[in-house]
Amino acid sequence: MLEDKDRIFTNLYGLHDWRLEDARRRGAWDGTKALLEKGRDSILEEVKASGLRGRGGAGFPTGVKWSFMPKENDGRPHYLVVNADESEPGTCKDREIMRHDPHILLEGCLVAGFAMGAHTCYIYIRGEYIREREILQAAIDEAYEAKLIGRDNVHGWDYDIYIHHGAGAYICGEETALLESLEGKKGQPRLKPPFPANVGLWGAPTTVNNVESVAVVPEILRRGSAWFAQLGRPNNTGTKLFCISGHVEEPCTVEEEMSIPLRELVERHAGGVRGGWDNLLAVIPGGSSVPLVPHWHCDDLLMDFDALKDVQSGLGTAAVIVMDKSTDIVAAIARIAYFYKHESCGQCTPCREGTGWMWRVLTRMIEGNATKREIDLLYDVTKQVEGHTICALGDAAAWPIQGLIRHFRDEIEGRIEAVSRPAETTGIAAE
Ligand code: SF4
Repeated sequence: MLEDKDRIFTNLYGLHDWRLEDARRRGAWDGTKALLEKGRDSILEEVKASGLRGRGGAGFPTGVKWSFMPKENDGRPHYLVVNADESEPGTCKDREIMRHDPHILLEGCLVAGFAMGAHTCYIYIRGEYIREREILQAAIDEAYEAKLIGRDNVHGWDYDIYIHHGAGAYICGEETALLESLEGKKGQPRLKPPFPANVGLWGAPTTVNNVESVAVVPEILRRGSAWFAQLGRPNNTGTKLFCISGHVEEPCTVEEEMSIPLRELVERHAGGVRGGWDNLLAVIPGGSSVPLVPHWHCDDLLMDFDALKDVQSGLGTAAVIVMDKSTDIVAAIARIAYFYKHESCGQCTPCREGTGWMWRVLTRMIEGNATKREIDLLYDVTKQVEGHTICALGDAAAWPIQGLIRHFRDEIEGRIEAVSRPAETTGIAAE
């Protein structure tokens, strides 16, 4: 369990004022100039040594990502883009940072931008986060006013931060679609390579980072990489914001130590599973894009990248969606399939056609109105979509369905058998 002294997000629940004066009392903007004086290379090495992995879903090492930015100056500007387009179902952690602790994000933007040679930062915020946008803009205004950012600021590194708000498309959370949108174009993912570190925003070197990834950096540098690295376990270090929702007594967002056991996380912070732990059916541990984990793998499950990979799932955004035994698991996954069908940008055929196809088959399976042969066919379609698309939305649509078939095939088959039996023995009328 994370001790209070190790918390980075000291105002997660809005118990304090988010404004600059109070944020400073809680440690934000403390010795930022000294952090920059460590130099770019030293900051990069420190972030690498901390083991910080991206908090937006993919879990790529943050320091390594930063090191992809060109060191030499070829005349093009460098950009930091903060991905605040938080739209993954179940995920609401970045919202809490922007709502209640905007200054630690802004300080992180300055430090990260400096480490990558960027003088400009864009924060691309989800369109529905209207109040958060207002708070963030007010915090930016305060930071300019206090000369913490802007030209000739007290830190000696000219730095501008702009907010850009999205318009409700989930796909704009994909980094290259986000860049397209930021350039004023339709938000559709780009083919990679080239990667944004070489050809990003307006053709210039760009790094796109998640809000939480950026916000934790100043504290890592202040306390040292060894402090961050001793939390959690190797390859899964630090603190992490978990959003716990679904069939729990008290849904919440909480900062905890990486690798905390799932059961402890849910029982200590979310009041436990509705009806008790034995009433658990399954969890989706990392936002809707990762496969569900059935209850028989949950008792000793650790919440980190490697442990969740071992059970063929993932940490994703660490949005833990808890489902108790009242859940219609087929309908739940069908609803997720509908989401991806709706949000597909339509650019590539496997995703555009496959997401609709998978959703329609799952919809029939809810009622048992399918054949058993279609279960394998559906699985096969998920495999045709996975890895064959321009961006990861295709994978995100395929994986939850694979998880359903892998773990709850009996449930799907049982419904098909019930419908195909005579109505007088089942009570269900076959159409
Ligand atoms: Fe668009 Fe889907 Fe292709 Fe991504 S995978 S580019 S969302 S069609």
